[in-house]
Amino acid sequence: MHNKIIFVVFDGLGDRPIAKFDGLTPLEAAKTPNLDFLAKIGINGLSHTIKRGIRPGSDVAHLSLFGYDPKKYYTGRGIFEAAGIGMDLKKGDIAFRANAGTIDENGIITDRRAGRIESTEEFTKLIDGLKIEDVEIRVKAGTGHRMAIVLRGPGLSYKITDPDPHKTEEKIRISTAKDSSKEAEKTARIINELVKKANQLFTDHPLNQKRKQNNLPLANAILLRGAGEVVDFPNFKDKYAMKACCIAGGGLYKGIAKMLGMDIIAVEGATGKPDTNINAKIQVVQSQLEHYDFLFLHLKGTDACAEDGDFTAKKEYLERADREFEPIVRIAKENKATLVVTGDHTTACELKAHSAEPVPILITGKGVRIDKVEKFGERAAVCGGLGQITGLDIMPYLVNLSGNQPLYGN
Ligand code: ZN
Repeated sequence: MHNKIIFVVFDGLGDRPIAKFDGLTPLEAAKTPNLDFLAKIGINGLSHTIKRGIRPGSDVAHLSLFGYDPKKYYTGRGIFEAAGIGMDLKKGDIAFRANAGTIDENGIITDRRAGRIESTEEFTKLIDGLKIEDVEIRVKAGTGHRMAIVLRGPGLSYKITDPDPHKTEEKIRISTAKDSSKEAEKTARIINELVKKANQLFTDHPLNQKRKQNNLPLANAILLRGAGEVVDFPNFKDKYAMKACCIAGGGLYKGIAKMLGMDIIAVEGATGKPDTNINAKIQVVQSQLEHYDFLFLHLKGTDACAEDGDFTAKKEYLERADREFEPIVRIAKENKATLVVTGDHTTACELKAHSAEPVPILITGKGVRIDKVEKFGERAAVCGGLGQITGLDIMPYLVNLSGNQPLYGN
């Protein structure tokens, strides 16, 4: 019987020095006695989630944290977004994330979110179930302007360009094949047809007539991006002999967890935003600890604040999370589980974007070689016993701690 593992990821945890904090990062400036205590009773280090100098997206970073080499398994974000809003996927499906957007009479995008429309459900119904050539189109509304689109049929490929130009004042692009395969050519052709059909069907919908009368931007276009193909992800349980669950608000994280075979635990008030109910999520960790071997707790607020450039909000979010961490500290103190606290990448407030600097990681639990680090922070972690590691190093470290690492050699 191995130890249970609680794996906490603060999204976009790392940061750069902030002048207003006298050159400290938001994590260093935050009052986090609980996280500092955990650093003190654990081993610390810095994690380059992919490798030095690479700015990771959240999707590849999480695959890496869970020990799935993105080079082998990652095709595109679409599949995780689709899985995250509850779409069933099977091998060979091609999935996209998409927005409902607004285009003018010349086809120019004027609003990438259709005036932040509150729901796309009425529109997705118009194209869900369409068949183009021999391919079935499935569409589901996400939150607000978001949706996910899945193509199911023979001979498809994710190697096509995004129709979404990722900015306004441009036309929706004609998708093209990224390689010379007939699969990519076919997929691009189907997607271009779908974009055209959606434009026609959406424009005529009574809801758009109403939006027009109310001077609201029309939801008359779909902006598709992030094509990914469903591949065979080895099931987490088979890979590690651990029953795993995911406690997250954001769809992407639930989607990744679902694709790896983790159970998704619904949490009241988990929004995937800074206003999330951290307390409720931590209560779920406590209540599920007896049912699972591996509990993934994702906290998005750090990243969301940094994407807005709001370093004060990022610091305050960390302080609020720290106050809610009491039960986790208790579990760690009593050695009831191995605990990991880390991030998936740095999100630098000054850039309002992901950045390549490594993120701190602390691990507490039975068998851990406790080091001399006494504070959870980017610079304190430099002196830690883990040194500088990659995301893919973490799971083998944990498996070894649990006593399940097979012997190499003889
Ligand atoms: Zn992230």
